[in-house]
Amino acid sequence: MSVLYLRLIPTSLHYIPPESTHSVAQEALSRLFPEGDIYLEVYKTTEFIDQGENFEYVRCPFCGADLVAWWGDAMDAAYEAAFEDLSITTPCCHQQTSLEKLDYRAPAGFARFVLSVRNPNRGDLTEREIELIETILNCKLKQVWAMY
Ligand SMILES: [Zn+2]
Repeated sequence: MSVLYLRLIPTSLHYIPPESTHSVAQEALSRLFPEGDIYLEVYKTTEFIDQGENFEYVRCPFCGADLVAWWGDAMDAAYEAAFEDLSITTPCCHQQTSLEKLDYRAPAGFARFVLSVRNPNRGDLTEREIELIETILNCKLKQVWAMY
C-alpha cells in the first residue's frame, strides 16, 4: 500500500525557522490534519525533497525541453557538493538558472527544514491555512506532495 506525504518546505532553500517556532508549527499543523502524523526534520545540509511516485517529468522552464536524462547527472554533481550550489546552465537553450527553478511535475524542492504530514487524508492547505503556518515559521512555504 502506498503512503502519501504532504511536505511543507521554505521557499528560501537554505532557511531554517527559529527553533522556538517548531513545536508551535507542529501543533498548528496537527489541528489542520487531525488524522495525519506530523514530522519535523532539520537536515545538516540541503536535501532534495522529492515527490516519489508522483514524479511525472522535469522540464526546462524556458523552452519546455524534457530534461530527465540530463537532470540525473546534474543532480549527482550537485549532491557531491551537498547542494550548496544549485546553479546550472540548461543544456537545451543555454540559460542560467538553478536546479530549484526547473519545472518539476509534481512539484519538488530543496530544503534543510521540512514539516511533513504522513497520510494527510485531505487535500492542499488553503491559502489561509498556509499563511497561518508561514506566520508561525516566519517564511514563505511550498507544498510538496509525495507518494511512496
Ligand atoms: Zn531550454
